[in-house]
Amino acid sequence: MTKPDIPAASDFIRDRVERDVQQGVNGGRVQTRFPPEPNGYLHIGHAKAITQDFATAEAFGGVCNVRFDDTNPDTEETEYVEAILADIAWLGFRPGAVHFASDYFETLYAWAVDLVERGLAYVDEQDGDTISAQRGGFGKPGIESPYRDRPAEESLDRFARMRAGEFAEGAMCLRAKIDMQADNMWLRDPVLYRIRSGHHHRTHDAWVIYPTYDWAHGQSDAIEGVTHSICTMEFDSHRPLYDWCLDNLTLPGDRPQQIEFARLEFTHTVTSKRRLKTLVTDGVVDGWDDPRMPTLVGMRRRGFPASAITRFCLDIGTSRTNARHSIEALEAVVRRQLNATAQRRMAVLRPLKLTITNWPKDADGNSVVEHFEVTNNPERAEDGTRTVAFTGELVIESEDFAEVPPPKFFRLSIGREVRLRGAYLVTATDVVKDESGAVVEVLATYDPQTRGGDAPDGRKVKSTMHWVSVPHSVPLRAGLYDRLFAAAVPGEATGEPLDDVNPDSRELLTEARGEAALAEVPGGEVVQFERLGYFAADPDQPGLFHRTVGLRDEWAAIQKRQAK
Ligand code: ATP
Ligand code: MG
Repeated sequence: MTKPDIPAASDFIRDRVERDVQQGVNGGRVQTRFPPEPNGYLHIGHAKAITQDFATAEAFGGVCNVRFDDTNPDTEETEYVEAILADIAWLGFRPGAVHFASDYFETLYAWAVDLVERGLAYVDEQDGDTISAQRGGFGKPGIESPYRDRPAEESLDRFARMRAGEFAEGAMCLRAKIDMQADNMWLRDPVLYRIRSGHHHRTHDAWVIYPTYDWAHGQSDAIEGVTHSICTMEFDSHRPLYDWCLDNLTLPGDRPQQIEFARLEFTHTVTSKRRLKTLVTDGVVDGWDDPRMPTLVGMRRRGFPASAITRFCLDIGTSRTNARHSIEALEAVVRRQLNATAQRRMAVLRPLKLTITNWPKDADGNSVVEHFEVTNNPERAEDGTRTVAFTGELVIESEDFAEVPPPKFFRLSIGREVRLRGAYLVTATDVVKDESGAVVEVLATYDPQTRGGDAPDGRKVKSTMHWVSVPHSVPLRAGLYDRLFAAAVPGEATGEPLDDVNPDSRELLTEARGEAALAEVPGGEVVQFERLGYFAADPDQPGLFHRTVGLRDEWAAIQKRQAK
């Protein structure tokens, strides 16, 4: 976003920051950050955080940076760093700067030494399970570690040797000395450093001890001059620890504050990098950018406009109450935007041959070619028109013909007249079947008086159908997608969201035909296949289109049902 674009939607964070600015907190300066861990690709939930972080800063003339929270060498990779930056750029945001928590490892270490020297931290040589068990629980007292009151020199010695690599993973850790009886579990002597032998994507093998989230986050905020550290509700209980760390350090500059808001969740959707990664490694999907994935790369390939995603994130407002949004509500925003921008084209996904038996032939016996001028987008006159070729050799959608029409079927059947969009009225006269008895061709006649699709005598037809002239068509493949998770709340029944993966979430149609103009759609662009939905041209595979969303506004239907 290049200028503030804050909607009227309620946003308690914006209100809180406004109050701080008015009161001159931190000199009225506003700085935020988006702090992803580079352990996977960003998903739709992250889009909410990004939009919140950037829009808050911009509303007050401040800056938003990206800081990679790269404190766990075992899960983080440079591939993810690059992908995350590309996603943020795609969403339309430009970070003031890109930082890495790993750049502060030396400072964080020095600050930890300082805590130990002041009797505020100690090296605990118990194993992780013992430490966890001693932490107690709500209403269950904590047990102090026997190492808690060891002399500072002893802890300093062990901490230095931890850093030097003398001990195995899990042999010891550095803990803050706060209060083992605190009501807040995070204050019961939290771990600040642990030993990790993995290879770090940036510091390589320089370190074998790594700060925990709690020791790295607030301090990184302080180092960078972040004023408002916006995060999701699961960090609410960490806030006293965030503040304890900052209270016990000499800060280099302004004092940051943590503000939490509710995560963005959707029905039929999982927003957890770890679980999404499992779908990729288990081969359930083709990759992080599979069009069914709720990742930003997936949604992009699927044809979701970035502006629809950020629009949605702004419009829902920001609160502290967790709520699961209907995925149809996001799709409605996508559909509304695409309706305004997408060029209309004709494509037939499951072709059935339609031969017009009274269509004129030229001297060589070939079907005469006629050209029709059709509008590219009725929503936007400036998009103009294009020419579509029409002949007696057509294909129509299989489901638009019924040999024995069921009740309320108003499309083509023997003896019935329908409109071929923008061309002529045609009447089916007969069918051709294969040995198995399946209809493979429909024979029809056209009325030459109905050029453009209207009869001079004003007679009405009940249905208008799309079509493609076979000699002018291009082959297409089309991906049709159903929900990747069958359950509205994945994992509701078993506790494991991946149990609800829908095994039939993709249908790939390989026999589709499209009008000639479809050969020229650039990768990534979305067009409307008339009557079928919005389809995004795959960025890598020419001729492959992914259905972004259908045409029907399912969200409106859901709202209508809810209102009843
Ligand atoms: P995941 O569990 O998917 O890895 P995470 O919270 O661990 O998510 P991070 O990379 O640590 O992912 O998150 C970066 C930022 O994005 C954090 O500030 C986090 O609060 C925020 N965030 C993550 N998921 C959501 C979500 N579903 N809705 C809103 N914000 C989110
Ligand atoms: Mg995380």
